[in-house]
Amino acid sequence: MDGSPGSLTSLRSRNRLLVLDAVRRHGRISRVGIARATGLSRTTVSGLVAGLLAEGVLTESAETSVPPAARGGRPATPLTLNPEGGGLLGVHLRHTDIRVLLADLSGGVLGERHHRVDVDHRPDEALDFIAGTALDLVATAGRDAGRIFGMGVAVSAPVQSRSHTLSLPSMLSGWTDADFATRLGERIGLPVHVGNDADLGALAEWTFGAGRGVDDLIYIMVSDGVGAGLILDGRPYQGSTGAAGELGHIAVVDGGYVCRCGNRGCLETAVGAQALTAAFSRTRGPDTTIADLVALLAADDPGARRVVTDAGHLIGRALAGICAMLEPRMVIIGGEVAAVGRPLLDGVRDVLTHRLPPALSQGITVSGGHLGDRAEVLGAIVLATHRTSAHLLAPRFERTTRDSGPSGQAPQIM
Ligand SMILES: [Zn+2]
Repeated sequence: MDGSPGSLTSLRSRNRLLVLDAVRRHGRISRVGIARATGLSRTTVSGLVAGLLAEGVLTESAETSVPPAARGGRPATPLTLNPEGGGLLGVHLRHTDIRVLLADLSGGVLGERHHRVDVDHRPDEALDFIAGTALDLVATAGRDAGRIFGMGVAVSAPVQSRSHTLSLPSMLSGWTDADFATRLGERIGLPVHVGNDADLGALAEWTFGAGRGVDDLIYIMVSDGVGAGLILDGRPYQGSTGAAGELGHIAVVDGGYVCRCGNRGCLETAVGAQALTAAFSRTRGPDTTIADLVALLAADDPGARRVVTDAGHLIGRALAGICAMLEPRMVIIGGEVAAVGRPLLDGVRDVLTHRLPPALSQGITVSGGHLGDRAEVLGAIVLATHRTSAHLLAPRFERTTRDSGPSGQAPQIM
């Protein structure tokens, strides 16, 4: 089909994406609401919605809780994504473990698996696990494999914004195959879309989490790796090549540990999960976990409080200049380490308060994420939904291993 920019097909794909995005972001929304949110005419929205209903992607809610039009018109029927309409797979590849999740079209989780593996150095084992688990999750959930529309993969490395491949030299040191998505896609028979994990965590918190409705935010993922994702002026921002937000690799400790990026004293080496738990190796042995740290904080252990507050201060120092430049309304702290809660947030907030003019710092809310360490894998689902949406509704959906459409064809959120 003719999907070239400017063609009728591409315009229709673009408009369908706008409608689907409006439904996804609002959860429940009427046709009038969609027209208002997208700027499309009511006639265009009605036509697109009729098609989406017929194809089972949207469903009409039985309730009519959306207020009727001001002058006593018929109550508007809210539309939602149809959970039964199909599914998507999400993967989060961290440095030390993998999470694979199957979700329905409304983002409801149908199944999830987790596997600890040295992802950096054992890419083949990681890909075997993803491929086997993906097929198994679909079968276990009793879903029709033909209605699984794609897979999103969140990786702990920068991703080229044009080619959607890993940037090289990669920070996943054993991953010499930058375009592993094509190989994985061929194995599972689905389109595979790759994004940076912090970028996708930001996308998920913005879509369904702490940042819903906030159009200028910085999401900080603090796990073994540390990174940031940006939503600016209502759009994800990835920089000129896709490497924006590599906050974890700002040097903050003079003469600190050598980092996987080749520098020394990076934020990640000082506040990542490994760094925080290693701080207890003398007093509590080498096997301390983030869960142990959470328990110590609950018991008001002064050492734990100190370590976590210091980490918050270091994150705040790395962040203050960025906040001065961008003036976000919200800073969201997510990732595995965010489970430690308030002392980390307080540490970040204290530094922003001290280092920024009051008029600026008072306008910035520092919040924990609402999605926990699932944010990145849910963001991978949103990415896959968006990249496949243009094709999802086409009656003769062609499976490709990567979305290769021209960038002007549809509004690219990532
Ligand atoms: Zn580094």
